[in-house]
Amino acid sequence: MRKKIVAGNWKMNNDLSETQDLISGIKSITKNSDAQIIIAPPYTNLYSAFQALKGSEIEVAAQNMHQSENGAFTGEISAKMLKSIGVNTVILGHSERRAYCGEDEVLLTEKVNTALENDMKIIFCFGEELKDRNYNEHFEVVNKQISNTLFHLEKGAWSNIILAYEPVWAIGTGETATPDQAQEMHEFIRKIIREEYDETTADDLTILYGGSVKPGNAKEIFSNPDVDGGLIGGASLNADDFMAIVNAI
Ligand code: PEP
Repeated sequence: MRKKIVAGNWKMNNDLSETQDLISGIKSITKNSDAQIIIAPPYTNLYSAFQALKGSEIEVAAQNMHQSENGAFTGEISAKMLKSIGVNTVILGHSERRAYCGEDEVLLTEKVNTALENDMKIIFCFGEELKDRNYNEHFEVVNKQISNTLFHLEKGAWSNIILAYEPVWAIGTGETATPDQAQEMHEFIRKIIREEYDETTADDLTILYGGSVKPGNAKEIFSNPDVDGGLIGGASLNADDFMAIVNAI
């Protein structure tokens, strides 16, 4: 039975005291759902977030990591460094990193391999741009993004993969995929995983939706059979909104 997950991607928001305030806010709100909560603060606050969440069920994820184990890579952070502070999950392939940091499929494949070699879980993001959808190429684009970066993996590796379908046109724009558009894409993703691997791998895979999920639209999006939760940007920066989304599952 696959896990339901709501993950908050804080991006480049929240300094140390804001991180502590937001975590206190999240912890103070009762969770009424069986969703696993993950938060992804910026690097400088990962350790303090991990400490503040010790003893709770909330997990901490990094927003990125380098593909090498160590070395002369000024400004970069390795898997081993993350693991040494208790962070076992990393977001890879976010459209902002693809667009602003030039992360392509070759680099992302290396990052995926390094994360898995270090026994890390990966929240792997992908999604089409508006022009792809307008040309009716969104299924092909998503198929390529997944197969080019993940289909070299052994079946067993998929227990450490969480997929996050994030149509680029819906991220931070207030536009969101309709529940039908989300379900249709998630069903397609599960189908290509089933075809490449098998029924169990596809059924056990958690597939999140991301793109302007808010308390007002979360329930409808999450009610789809192939949508197993969300990757939340803007709305994860407010404890009430984030927990309302968690509780919408
Ligand atoms: C994201 O960046 O992963 C995201 C889903 O952002 P937002 O919820 O703000 O659209």
